[in-house]
Amino acid sequence: MGCKHCRGGFFDGRFGQDVECVNGVLIDIDEAHEGPSDTVYPVAPCHPMWERQRTDPDAETWVNDTCERLAAWRSQGPTTQQDTPHGK
Ligand SMILES: [Zn+2]
Repeated sequence: MGCKHCRGGFFDGRFGQDVECVNGVLIDIDEAHEGPSDTVYPVAPCHPMWERQRTDPDAETWVNDTCERLAAWRSQGPTTQQDTPHGK
């Protein structure tokens, strides 16, 4: 997983065993691959709204770009075995 900001995307299980940073979205990696695309997720520490989210219990009402971030990540081709070029 390639988040440059969040220590490789993992958080030592801090947010749940399989929760990672996916393009700035804090999400279970299985959900990132297969979950619904219209759900608002919390943001990850590298997201510009991270600090605000920590102090605002209503974060989900105004953090609304996680769907787009997730969609962008999916369209980029997440790292899967089929998609990884082997370089001939
Ligand atoms: Zn991150």
